[in-house]
Amino acid sequence: MAPLKPHWAQPSHPDIHQVIVNEAEFTSKSLSKVTVPPFGVFAKMTFPPCTITPEATYATVQIGKNRHISLNSDLLYLNHSCDPSLILDTANLDILAGPKGLKPGDELTFFYPSTEWHMAQPFDCLCQSASCRGTITGAQGMDPRKLEGFWLSGHIRQMLEEKATGKPADAHADVPDLVGDATAQLLRAALSKAEDVASKARAALDGYTASTLVSLEDEATKGTIANAA
Ligand SMILES: [Zn+2]
Repeated sequence: MAPLKPHWAQPSHPDIHQVIVNEAEFTSKSLSKVTVPPFGVFAKMTFPPCTITPEATYATVQIGKNRHISLNSDLLYLNHSCDPSLILDTANLDILAGPKGLKPGDELTFFYPSTEWHMAQPFDCLCQSASCRGTITGAQGMDPRKLEGFWLSGHIRQMLEEKATGKPADAHADVPDLVGDATAQLLRAALSKAEDVASKARAALDGYTASTLVSLEDEATKGTIANAA
C-alpha cells in the first residue's frame, strides 16, 4: 500500500507492529514484532477507537454489508497477500494470526477480498505465492472460484450467496452491535440488570404465592378440622 498521511499518533502499536516505509518506491509494509500462535489474537480492531463510516475509502475496512470502519492506526498499513499471515475477524473485530501463526519479522498481510466487497482501485497482486489470484478486486468482482480456500468474512459470504442466488440471504452475517458504541453497551447493561431484577421478582412472587397457598391450605385444613369437631 502506498504511504499515507497518518492522522493518528505513530507508532500506534509499538509493541507488536513495525511499519517500514519505502519513500523512494512509494510503498510500505508491516512486520510483526511478536509471536502469536495459529488463530491467536494479534490485535483488536477497536483499539485505538475506530470510527464508523458509511462509505468505503482507502482507509477503511468493511465489517458488514453496509458498514465500514476507519482503523485510525498503523493497522492501515497491512498489505494484501494471497498467502496472508492474518485473518480479519470482522464479526468480533479481532485481527487473528493465520493458520501458520506469527513470529517476529513476518510480514503482516491479509486477503483484501475477505472483507471488501467493492474496491475502488483493483490491482495486480505481486505476492508471488503459489496461490496468487492475480488481479485483486473486491469480492464482488472476483470469480467465486478464486475466493475458494480463503477465510472470508460473514458479510462477504452472505453477499456472495445473495449474488449467486439473487435472493437476500440470512442477515445474521452482518455485524451485530458495534463495539465502541457506548450507548448500545449502556442499554445492554441496563437491559441485563432489568432482566435480573425481573427474574428475582418473579421468583419472589412464585415463592410468595406458593407460601400463601400453603398457609391458605393450612387454614382450610384447620377449618375443616374445626368444622368437623
Ligand atoms: Zn497474490
